[in-house]
Amino acid sequence: MSIDRLFSILAGRMDQYAVLPILYHFHWMEWDDLSFDWCLVCIYGLFAVIITYAVCVPLELWRPVEHWPNQKAVLVDVFYTLLNRVGIIPIVSFLLFYQVQTAFTGGLVDMGFIPPTLDSLIPGLFGHPFVTFWIYALILDFADYWRHRLSHTFRAWYALHALHHAQRQMSFWSDDRNHFFDDCISFLWFFVIGLAIGIPPLQFPLLILLLRFVESFSHANIKLSYGKLEWLVVSPRFHRLHHALRAAGHHSCNYGGVFPLWDIIFRTADFSPIWLATGDAKSPEALATGSYLQQQFCGAKMFFKALFAPKKKAA
Ligand SMILES: [Zn+2]
Ligand SMILES: [Zn+2]
Repeated sequence: MSIDRLFSILAGRMDQYAVLPILYHFHWMEWDDLSFDWCLVCIYGLFAVIITYAVCVPLELWRPVEHWPNQKAVLVDVFYTLLNRVGIIPIVSFLLFYQVQTAFTGGLVDMGFIPPTLDSLIPGLFGHPFVTFWIYALILDFADYWRHRLSHTFRAWYALHALHHAQRQMSFWSDDRNHFFDDCISFLWFFVIGLAIGIPPLQFPLLILLLRFVESFSHANIKLSYGKLEWLVVSPRFHRLHHALRAAGHHSCNYGGVFPLWDIIFRTADFSPIWLATGDAKSPEALATGSYLQQQFCGAKMFFKALFAPKKKAA
């Protein structure tokens, strides 16, 4: 049985025994067409978390960069991950994206305009879905490079992104540690790009999981570099340099999420063979070790303060 088929069966069971009874109980029957897709998104998210956990935990135990006396600060990152990968956020994003994409492309088609896809722009790609996927991945990673780099450029935006950098106990759980407003900006950013280039919906779920895995893995507390392959895929050492504490929160290198290519092209790549401590010395302690709500509240306060009193430069 293929893994896609297994996920469909699991999503079907979850839909049948957990989601549909709730929808019927509350008379929300109009959602029952979409409930299977919600379940599928949750199952994929859960699978991604389990695989990442199974790979990273033994490696973090085997070759940790840092030993921590206790891992209390990591717990909140676990919560961020579950919320972002399995919880409500992917479902809302999924629903919103596909509803708007359908309405948007439907509206364009009604006006006699067929929105372009990569296959239609580059006819040679037609019938080569694997190549098309990697081109999509490169385009999305390029967009992510600039989203990330700009979030370090604007002071108010960095006030939100500081939450991601405040973690001194960086582990594979830290990838999803972001402010809710920052997640909304990312969502809008990719939403617009997705509409412009036409992301094939759930066509390559396993490859998308692989790319997300690279991002989680790059945060892991593992003394690992990829040697000569380091310029091809972002490694834990490469991303750690972006999170490096250094002089009070200055992060000026390695913005790439999956491919270091964009850092190389735009001259922000740093492949130094060093392992630095992580964190942001300028961040309030609540951002580093506070609870989820304390971090969100503190980040929002910093954001509005920076927005209405722009003085200093971003980190
Ligand atoms: Zn950053
Ligand atoms: Zn990061």
